[in-house]
Amino acid sequence: MIDSGDTIFGKIIRKEIPATIVYETENVLAFRDISPVAPTHIVIIPKRFIKDLASVGPADKEILGELMLVATEVAKRENIEDKGYRIVINTGKQGGQTVFHLHLHLIGGRAMDWPPG
Ligand code: 5GP
Repeated sequence: MIDSGDTIFGKIIRKEIPATIVYETENVLAFRDISPVAPTHIVIIPKRFIKDLASVGPADKEILGELMLVATEVAKRENIEDKGYRIVINTGKQGGQTVFHLHLHLIGGRAMDWPPG
């Protein structure tokens, strides 16, 4: 059994709480954000617990690549590939991370501003 961690995302992985899952592989889960900031807002996570981007190392190369590939696949399925979208990885407190289980935000369906807030 993999260690899916103690956060709310661990509970989603173990199906202890519901989420709208849009895509899944053996190692990665993608589901709709509960408080979307855009028409498309998907959270993409490794099923194996990793705290944040700051704690990854060479052993995580493969899962990091898979997370990115899943993001591009979900963007296709959500029909935002042509218009464009944003991938965000909030990291640590100042980075705005609130759930300490590594995740990508796939955000699209509207124009984005820069710089982010
Ligand atoms: P962070 O702020 O850590 O980068 O992103 C955490 C994201 O998880 C937030 O956008 C928040 O809305 C989302 N989130 C928190 N709890 C839940 C939940 O129980 N279900 C779902 N689907 N999303 C959640």
